[in-house]
Order: sequence, then C-alpha cells, then structure tokens
Amino acid sequence: MAGLTRTIAQAVLGLSIGFSSTAQAPVSAPAPANPSDEESALRAFAAIHPIDVHVHVFKTDPAFQRMLEQLNLKLLNILVMDDTLSYRKRLQPQVDDALALVRSGRGHIALCTTFDPYSFSSDSFDADSIKQINRDFAQGAVAVKIWKNIGMEIKDSSGRYIMADDPKFEPIYKDIASHGKTLMTHLAEPDVAWGPPDAADPSWSYYQENPQWYVANRPGFPSKQSILQARDHILANNPRLRMVGVHLGSMERNLDNIADHFEKYPNFAIDTAARMEYLMLMPPENVRDFFIKYQDRILYGTDLDLLPDANVPDTLKDWQSTYARDWKFLATGEALSVGGKQVHGLNLPESVLQKIFRSNAIRWIPGL
Ligand SMILES: [Zn+2]
Repeated sequence: MAGLTRTIAQAVLGLSIGFSSTAQAPVSAPAPANPSDEESALRAFAAIHPIDVHVHVFKTDPAFQRMLEQLNLKLLNILVMDDTLSYRKRLQPQVDDALALVRSGRGHIALCTTFDPYSFSSDSFDADSIKQINRDFAQGAVAVKIWKNIGMEIKDSSGRYIMADDPKFEPIYKDIASHGKTLMTHLAEPDVAWGPPDAADPSWSYYQENPQWYVANRPGFPSKQSILQARDHILANNPRLRMVGVHLGSMERNLDNIADHFEKYPNFAIDTAARMEYLMLMPPENVRDFFIKYQDRILYGTDLDLLPDANVPDTLKDWQSTYARDWKFLATGEALSVGGKQVHGLNLPESVLQKIFRSNAIRWIPGL
C-alpha cells in the first residue's frame, strides 16, 4: 500500500515539477547514472518530503530556492565558527545572514546556531554564550552545534586542548536541554586523521586539502578516543539533552561502536553527513541490519554547502547528484559506483526510509 502511495505521489510530482515523463528508469539501470536515472531517484526522494539535517548555506539564491521547492526539501542550516575561514570567523554576521535565509526560505530552511568557543577563556564565556543562543532560540533556532575545534584546536590559558566535557560548557548544555533544543556535535574526525596516509579512505582528500586537521604523529595531541569520551560524558551527565552526533558520531568505521552508544545513551542519535561513502563500502547486509535495528536513531544529512562565492548551477548539480546517489543506495537495490567499486543499494523498507529521511529529524530536532 505504501509502495502504491509512493508510486502515485511520484506520478503526481512528475507532472507538477516537470521532470521528463520518460524518466521511469528500470530497476536494473546501469551505473554510472544517466540523467533519467537521476531524475527518477530525485522524484522518489522528493515524494518522501525529505529533511537534510546537515548543510551549510551562506547565501540566498532563487535557483537554489526553486530546487528546495521542487524536491519538497527542508534543510537544517548549521553554523560553525572557524577562525581559519573569513566567512566563518565571526558569529553575529553568520547568525544575521542565517536568520535572513530562514525568513526568505518559505519554510524550507531552519537554523542550527552555535556559540563562540574561541572566547572560552573569557570570564563571561558562559553568560555570553547562553545569552547568544537564547536570543537565537527566540528567533527560531532549533539546535546548537559544537565543532571539532573543541578537542582539536582551542587551548585553555594553561595551554591544554579544551574538551567538550569541560565544566565551563555544562551550563550551556543545561540551557539547551531546558529549552528543549538539540545539541549537534561534530567532535573528533575520521580515524584516518590520526592514522597513516590512506588514499583509499573516503576522507583522505580532505586532509590533503586541509592539513591542519591531519594530526597523525603530533606529539601530545589528544587521542580520538579521549575526545569522544568527553562527548560521552556530556551524554551521561545530561540525560535530558538530545544529542545528534554528526558524521556517524565520528565512529565511521565501526557500526558496533555506534550500536553500543545507542544502547548506552537513549539521548543519542547520529546523522550520516559526509560519511555515506563509509557505509557504502561496508558489507551491505551489515549496514542494512544496522539501519533496520536502529531505524529510530539515524538522521539523514549530507554536509552539502552553498558557499558565498559558489557557482550556483554547478553547486545545484552537485546537491542533486548527492541526493540521487544517497536515495539509490538506501532506497533501491540498484548498483552504484563508489570510489571505483560497484556497490548495491540496501533497498530499505518504506517505513524505515520515512524515518531516516524525515520523521527522525522532526522527533530528534523538534521545531524542524
Ligand atoms: Zn558540516
């Protein structure tokens, strides 16, 4: 019945958004995708009214807005402070731009705000941060992000890397919980950041472009384990705080470890942002079992961005091909090519897809 509903929804959608009517790709469509194959995946994706809980959008654009409307897509736009990038260096201009984006997005864009961790050593750090996020909540922000600069970059006045379970952060977590909002945590990095160079790792190219985050062989640098343990302390200390560990909770190579966290911390969920390829390269039966068993704890996210200087048409193509690829992997049994390898889609049940692509986001991040 659900399948039939989807077929009808697709047919209606196909008419209303003008995808070519010859786009009914057969299930056995060969990879790499031909255009009609991608259109067919996007039509099915749109029919579920998807929510992408992890994007970084820096500008309004009519073509971008049109894409959101065509795909029935809602985004959670995540702010991050990064002192190495001019457009992420200062917080308030980012908040102002992001709120303008929410207002112009006609219900398609929500805001995940952040606070300034670089002012950690200030005496008024807690008070300032809480004031900031409460003001953003009042204007509609639905979540708060903390980022890998906590644990991997910022040091306290005695020269130690600050960790996410530092008591100075605790009043902020309590404030987020008391407002019923969600904490999104990107703490630590993929294993390869601490390991030997590995061209086969899906994240390796990132470290070639961003060597500041490649920390192997740095004496005295915090271990990945110590950074994630600090994250786990937040979960244990704040059972009423909902946390989404983004990027598969930085446990991208170990589904058992993620499962242990789900069992231990009922307030913990993950998003898939920028780590889908790790899932695609694992044995598909294991990934399928994991998605079915933990169908209430996984939120769909991509980490796609629209940067201030982006070429919009190229960026939109990138967004659409990512959505089509991810849909094919999770929702169909089709073959797709990932890093030169042929992988098969998980063909997850409709009820599970509905949760991953939509309802989990609403449940874990109320206000979306
Ligand atoms: Zn991100």
